[in-house]
Amino acid sequence: MAVKYVPTRQCVICRRQVPKPELIRFVVMDDKVIIDPTGRMNGRGAYLCSSVACREKAKKTNALSRHLKHPVEDQVWTTLETMGDA
Ligand SMILES: [Zn+2]
Repeated sequence: MAVKYVPTRQCVICRRQVPKPELIRFVVMDDKVIIDPTGRMNGRGAYLCSSVACREKAKKTNALSRHLKHPVEDQVWTTLETMGDA
């Protein structure tokens, strides 16, 4: 049986290796952090898994901002909430 290869990336919060389609990618554009819904945008990226705990922790600790060295605006978190669980 052929096993389909699924690329994984590490969640910046829980450090788990998660299949890429289950992650939310963030990328720096115009000196700020935005959500990359396609996962294909150029630039420095960071990944967050779909766990609500990780999402809340990322917001609370500003981990994405520190990781990407750019500010994460409130708008990003608002958008994330409307995206629901992947
Ligand atoms: Zn996580």
